[in-house]
Amino acid sequence: MKSEYNLFNEVSGFVDAASRYTDHPKGLIEQIKACNSVYQFNFPLHRDNGDYEVIEGFRVQHSHHKLPVKGGIRFSTEVEVNEVMGLAALMSFKCALVDVPFGGAKGGVNIDKKRFSINELEKITRRYTAELIKKNFIGPAIDVPAPDLGTGAREMAWIADTYMAFHPESINAFGCVTGKPLSQSGIEGRTEATGKGVSIGIREALNLKEEMKKIGLSPGIRGKSVIVQGLGNVGYYAALYLQEEGAKIIGIAEHDGGLFNKKGLNVDKVAQFKMEHGTVNGFPDATAVENSAGLLEYESDILVPAALENQITDENAGRIKAKVIGEAANGPITRAAEKILLERGVFIIPDIFLNAGGVTVSYFEWLKNLSRVSFGKIDKHYDMLDNLRIVEAIEKASGQKLPTAQRKAIVKGASEMDLVMSGLEESMISSFESLIKTRRDHNIPDLRTAAFVHSLNKIATSYIDLGVFP
Ligand code: NAD
Repeated sequence: MKSEYNLFNEVSGFVDAASRYTDHPKGLIEQIKACNSVYQFNFPLHRDNGDYEVIEGFRVQHSHHKLPVKGGIRFSTEVEVNEVMGLAALMSFKCALVDVPFGGAKGGVNIDKKRFSINELEKITRRYTAELIKKNFIGPAIDVPAPDLGTGAREMAWIADTYMAFHPESINAFGCVTGKPLSQSGIEGRTEATGKGVSIGIREALNLKEEMKKIGLSPGIRGKSVIVQGLGNVGYYAALYLQEEGAKIIGIAEHDGGLFNKKGLNVDKVAQFKMEHGTVNGFPDATAVENSAGLLEYESDILVPAALENQITDENAGRIKAKVIGEAANGPITRAAEKILLERGVFIIPDIFLNAGGVTVSYFEWLKNLSRVSFGKIDKHYDMLDNLRIVEAIEKASGQKLPTAQRKAIVKGASEMDLVMSGLEESMISSFESLIKTRRDHNIPDLRTAAFVHSLNKIATSYIDLGVFP
């Protein structure tokens, strides 16, 4: 099954399906589908034990209709050229959908992280960055990576530091990568952004009364049962925020085993256990599920694949019992599986919308790096004084004092975290509204096709306005 699977072909298939709802010329659609630049390279690693190993890396820039291009860097043994091309293509459509001014890109290093020491991972990340610099495949105006599967703030800090060593004159150098630690010009809220966005997107979808009625669910997240695959960055925060909104996380599937508890798992406790033991296996307050992929087929209201692509295929789609699938991961459902699921009435919230919170907050980080000022730095105190004047005037006019906690909440100016979370919320809600509108306007049966139509039209407009196409 794995050898036949090709993520880039999958994404191209979704674009073809969407193009039937547009009247763009075939050549323009072909241009939008194509990857503009594909860079595949090898470099040596001198290991701690004295051995040498050859490491394979990739960076794909899918669409240059807007620059810089943007997309994460993945460290995984599954990394291969079609995967990176497919992920890069998804980024173009995602950025267009949520209106962040980037083309799409993606990078990857084919390694099993667990085999390497921190020292070796640092060497790999820095050498990978140097290879990108050599070919002009990184820079705040060119191509801006971010975290993805197997990478996080630590790797992003190494990338920024390496880039800056090669570009000491560049005042915008920190904008060469996002998802950095706060002390390295990162931004509040980036770590939780993708998962938070997933929870907002699922909430918005579950508020569609008519749609929920069709699938036999009451509207709203409260009380809904959720199974999450992958308790990494995206899965953890998605589960945590869904739980905060009143959902019950009944299942968590990890690569080496799963947990099930009909009454609900405590997400923080599971994450804490995983951090301490390196696995969820052995977590006390749950039934262990040896075949974790099988957990996807358990009864639940909402299934959230948040690990890898190609998880729900034509092989298991018929056995999925969830009524809603929220694609937190990129490409978890194949085209063939989607057909089966849609026929069975499953409501699918597509990846290019649902996990776009990460790139949205990455956009805020990039803006912060270019402007070199934190959000809220200049206006927070001013806003606070302004709010205080208004509250005092109301209190004076009414002759009543507000309770201290309420007064504090009204008076306080917005911090960077407040502004980032508010921007993320606004972006997810307004993108969802445009997605629903596109679906309605074109009478499109499913949300994924509507999402691709919306993005396709935006990218096409870019090319047309450039004068490249009539
Ligand atoms: P991560 O490395 O932090 O977490 C991935 C988790 O999935 C890990 O806990 C891993 O053990 C688990 N996992 C791996 N294989 C599995 C399997 N077969 N079954 C169950 N669990 C498995 O990665 P992440 O950043 O959370 O990314 C997850 C997905 O979300 C990817 O598809 C990624 O492209 C997508 N995504 C990530 C971001 C981001 O900001 N990090 C943004 C958008 C999309």
